[in-house]
Amino acid sequence: MQKKEKIKLNTHMPEDLFDKAAALLKQSHNTVALTGAGVSTESGIADFRGKGGLWSRYDPYEYGTMGAFLSDPEKVWRMLASLLKIVKAEPNTGHKGMAALEEKGLLTGIITQNIDGLHQKGGSRNVVEFHGSQDTFSCLSCGESYSLAYVRECLLPPHCIACNVILKPDIVFFDERIPHMVLARTQHMLASADLLLVAGTSCQVEPASRIPYQIHNNGGKIIEINKEPVLNHLAEITLEGNFSTVLEELVERLV
Ligand SMILES: [Zn+2]
Repeated sequence: MQKKEKIKLNTHMPEDLFDKAAALLKQSHNTVALTGAGVSTESGIADFRGKGGLWSRYDPYEYGTMGAFLSDPEKVWRMLASLLKIVKAEPNTGHKGMAALEEKGLLTGIITQNIDGLHQKGGSRNVVEFHGSQDTFSCLSCGESYSLAYVRECLLPPHCIACNVILKPDIVFFDERIPHMVLARTQHMLASADLLLVAGTSCQVEPASRIPYQIHNNGGKIIEINKEPVLNHLAEITLEGNFSTVLEELVERLV
């Protein structure tokens, strides 16, 4: 069995581990990234599940389900109003590093569990928003789509112009299934992936948490970038540290 390697940034930093990760990225034919909350914390967005995060202030089962939205949309919009406040966040150097890798043909695409749109804002083009987006809103009655700009102009909660029904953000609530089209795009992206870059996710939320296992079982390799690694048993290389710091180091060797 091949030896798994691990580093801790700012302690004993074996430079060659970054070189190895860079070499793996260069060798791979199709690298895909799986990202989560940890890539956006340096942009000032608290991990929803962490201390000070959205779900520490609002019970996810009371505010984060389709059932809750359908029975009391105004109540759910009190939680959503605080989400609107964080959309002014800016991408960090890690997001930009990912975009640079795509630009250089070293990264095919990103599957993100984040709803903040920061990968796209950072320049990434091929992004699957696995849990939806907070930038668009839909009327569940007529299906009309509304932009964030429209919602910002509204007195909350925002209503559909035609139906006067309260709009739902296009995010996947806890009791909702991942939309079929999103799953199809994800599987298309993963079909020929031979390297998965897992960054800023503790891989706890199904079904996204199954993606590293899918790649591993198909013979693909994994590079993990996390402050607190969780995939030691699967990862070829573990780069332990902040997303932006690690990406900067990595991109330096590639771009
Ligand atoms: Zn409508």
